[in-house]
Amino acid sequence: MGKVVGIDLGTTNSCVAVVEGDVPAVIPNRGGYKTTPSMVAITEAEKRLVGHIAKRQAITNAENTVYASKRLIGRNWESAPVMAAKETAPYKVVEGPHDDVRIDLRGKLYSVPEIAAMILVEMKVIAEDYIGEPVEQAVVTVPAYFNDNQRQATRDAGTIAGLEVIRIINEPTAAALAYGYGKKMDKMVAVFDLGGGTFDISILEIGSDEVFKVISTAGDTFLGGEDFDTRIMDWLVQGFIDEHNVDLRKDRMALQRLKDAAEKAKIELSSQTEAEINLPFIISVGQNEALHLQSVLKREVFEELCSDLVDRTIDICQATLDEAELVKEDVEEVLLVGGMTRMPFIQKKVRDFFNREPCKGVHPDEVVGLGAAIQARALTDDGSTMLLLDVTPHTLGIMIAGGHFEGLIPQNSTVPTSRSKIFTTIRDNQTAVKILVFQGEDERASKNESLGEFVLTGLRKAEKGQVEIEVIFDINADGIVSVAARDLETGMKQSITVTASSGLTESEIHKMVEQSKDYMVDRRESEEFEAARQEAERLIRELERMYVQVEKMVAGSEFGNEALIKARDLIENAKQAIELKDLIQLKDSIETLKRTQRMFKGVLAK
Ligand code: AMP
Repeated sequence: MGKVVGIDLGTTNSCVAVVEGDVPAVIPNRGGYKTTPSMVAITEAEKRLVGHIAKRQAITNAENTVYASKRLIGRNWESAPVMAAKETAPYKVVEGPHDDVRIDLRGKLYSVPEIAAMILVEMKVIAEDYIGEPVEQAVVTVPAYFNDNQRQATRDAGTIAGLEVIRIINEPTAAALAYGYGKKMDKMVAVFDLGGGTFDISILEIGSDEVFKVISTAGDTFLGGEDFDTRIMDWLVQGFIDEHNVDLRKDRMALQRLKDAAEKAKIELSSQTEAEINLPFIISVGQNEALHLQSVLKREVFEELCSDLVDRTIDICQATLDEAELVKEDVEEVLLVGGMTRMPFIQKKVRDFFNREPCKGVHPDEVVGLGAAIQARALTDDGSTMLLLDVTPHTLGIMIAGGHFEGLIPQNSTVPTSRSKIFTTIRDNQTAVKILVFQGEDERASKNESLGEFVLTGLRKAEKGQVEIEVIFDINADGIVSVAARDLETGMKQSITVTASSGLTESEIHKMVEQSKDYMVDRRESEEFEAARQEAERLIRELERMYVQVEKMVAGSEFGNEALIKARDLIENAKQAIELKDLIQLKDSIETLKRTQRMFKGVLAK
């Protein structure tokens, strides 16, 4: 069996890691970076770009460059994050066929799992290049507060990317695994994870027996670095309106430049007390009059702009402690995870809240990927004694009379777990029952996340109340929900139709898997061709240089002339193969060019 990797599929950056020997290590990409931007672009020539290369061209190709797609994964069309992205993202967010979201890139619609799959493919390729063999299985992380739809959609992304996701684990839990790995300790740990798009807090007990038990978790899947960037953008936009009476939000390219500048300023403000923001020629107005944006943001001003965001994270910390019936003093270590925890203001607020210095020993960008790799190893190594006990972040339940929500599996229950409920018919000869499943904490079902409708069909015809069906709700170790039903009298399993409220159908996924495979073949072939082209061009350059010398040496001899004509032809053939992108011909040409090179060397040595 091939190596199983761990992938942190982040809002801003993604990271892939593997355990080799007993040592977990992050795998650098070709540029040597340990994290890869979670960005995808389609170029004018319809070429797909992922990672740094997509980020580099984001300003000039803003409409066709997708970032922060994780904020949209598994979301319904009308959800707040989707509506926000529709208004503010430089790329086009449109409604999909299943009340879901599609992204329009150069006229082609992509589902969000497809975009996530492109990032996963990139991480798979990074891992394969490093390991030197195909990687087909992975543990993928998600924010602890992701609901079932978001988890399912992430799993779909793995499938589309040609990866079997052997487990989905929660990001803060992964961080705790990496922190506690190999250390014998008994400790209560809080993981404060603020990334590009999401916030999670988890409280865990790490046992010296290698048991990692999550006590409680809470979070906000729409609170992260992006919101801090938006605060700076809003401030810049307002300043520009005050100065020039021009709204920069109307221009997609200006918006992308603003976003970049806002993030840069935010990062600078982690090490400096003020950041200069200069965006020359940000927009042109009237008769081609160019306007420039120039501003200085002071750290205290930035802290004021986003203080409510930071306060929200602290409130959630308090709520999760309450939920776990713990007090701050019970927490013996605080881990800071996610790029945003580099912000001094956040560090201060966390320090003040927990009344302790956060742990310095974890790398906020890499620790989640490392934890995923550790879990991947534990799941595939029969000798592993590590045990991970996670919880479900949301209550799972159904809609009952009056639109109320009845919880069946409470939040923070250890997973896997299952609960069942007996349903009876309410009309004579009723042959079907419809059950609406939700996840959330609101008393009104409609305020919670709809996971789907389950229609139990083929019930026995009987008087009302006579048919009893046991419906079993199950949450597996990935936090993914499934439902089964049984007629209690006959023991017959009922057929269940699941209507996904968002996401992709089986056949759509199947089609996307095929397309992704084609892309992998194309990509591998184009990489092979690129290597061959470089080698051929080097040989051609050397041969052309030698040609001139050989020509002088063998001038007039018949053998010499023939050899020179042949060499010319070979060079032309190789150039033609490059132009036609004919890999097979190019490989042949390389061999003959090498032979000619040896022959020329022989002649010149005489
Ligand atoms: P992650 O999702 O963990 O990769 O976190 C990415 C988020 O962290 C992005 O919003 C980044 O802008 C932000 N970030 C990265 N480095 C810093 C820094 N030094 N100061 C403040 N924010 C940062």
